[in-house]
Amino acid sequence: HYNFCAGPAALPTTVLERARDELLDYQGRGLSVMEMSHRAPEYVAIAEKAEADLRELLAIPANYKVLFTQGGATQQFAAVPYNLLGAGGRANFLTTGIWGKKALAEARHLFGDAHVAASSEANGHHAVPRQEDIVLSDDAAYLHYTANETIGGLEFDYIPEVRRLDGSEAPLVCDMSSSILSGPLDVSKFGVIYAGAQKNIGPAGLVVVIVRDDLLDRARADMPSLFGYQALAEAGSMINTPATYSWYLAGLVFEWLKDDVGGLAAMDAINARKARKLYAAIDGSELYSNPIDLRNRSRMNVPFVLADERLDKPFLAEAEAAGLLNLKGHRSVGGMRASLYNAVPEAAVDALIAFMADFEKRRG
Ligand code: PLP
Repeated sequence: HYNFCAGPAALPTTVLERARDELLDYQGRGLSVMEMSHRAPEYVAIAEKAEADLRELLAIPANYKVLFTQGGATQQFAAVPYNLLGAGGRANFLTTGIWGKKALAEARHLFGDAHVAASSEANGHHAVPRQEDIVLSDDAAYLHYTANETIGGLEFDYIPEVRRLDGSEAPLVCDMSSSILSGPLDVSKFGVIYAGAQKNIGPAGLVVVIVRDDLLDRARADMPSLFGYQALAEAGSMINTPATYSWYLAGLVFEWLKDDVGGLAAMDAINARKARKLYAAIDGSELYSNPIDLRNRSRMNVPFVLADERLDKPFLAEAEAAGLLNLKGHRSVGGMRASLYNAVPEAAVDALIAFMADFEKRRG
């Protein structure tokens, strides 16, 4: 079976096998990682190795903190403005789909005002705004955007530059939930990166936050203390009990990326190949189509529709019977979506393409 779910997504099989092997007795210690105290030296070593491996994979500069926190990416929709609006100013947003709009709505819900610096609403979220279309407010405290819109299948092909009208630079904040670790990244371009774990990192609920040191003192005084990047950093992400087992599993995924895949450049090449193949199959068919501008097509989430909607149900049923799972598009948009996260092997994409061609021949 191959799992094309957008999230919680497939985990690498070797990671799941290792977790199974270690589940009852972690390296001869007579207990499960799930049962360890987060203060125990064995657990602290697991947590520290996960962070070190992530730092190595993404070449995270020393002036950034890495936090392993909880509440999903959605909690960061609130935590980001709480952490960055303490010195005044307004949150600025690029909205390119459903997740960016949710982040904007949360900032407005909490603090009333937020500025949309550019949006792809007018083109139906088929192409991201160009750099020259981004207009920050004079009082921009930061600019938030969504690197990859998981539902729309729309991905930024560049990292925005963030200058206010007066030429000063504002911190760039990015929701990378569905694209982090899909390839190398220049972390130094960002003020804050956050990612819900359940696509390319590990189990749902865990969130990784990467934050530049100079942004740690901008929090609002009325912030819930568990949201605080400064406090989390000082406590090694252990203000309260962290999601210990999820953190351990994330560490196994980082090890897999380093040791089995060979790092993010290698992962990047595999992901490029997987996406290229699938889009080529879609573009070369009469039955399937994807509306996104070529340069903004997501490598991780490939939505497509069938020319005849009545074929949706048989397509999904037959795909499932063929072991191709979770191809149904998000309930808000319909159609199909194949998510090609890191753990989806190239063979899964080959199997999907073969199935699609066969289905088209028979039913198209
Ligand atoms: N942001 C993006 C880009 C997502 O894809 C998702 C979830 O799929 C979220 C945020 C919300 O994540 P969570 O469910 O972890 O809160």
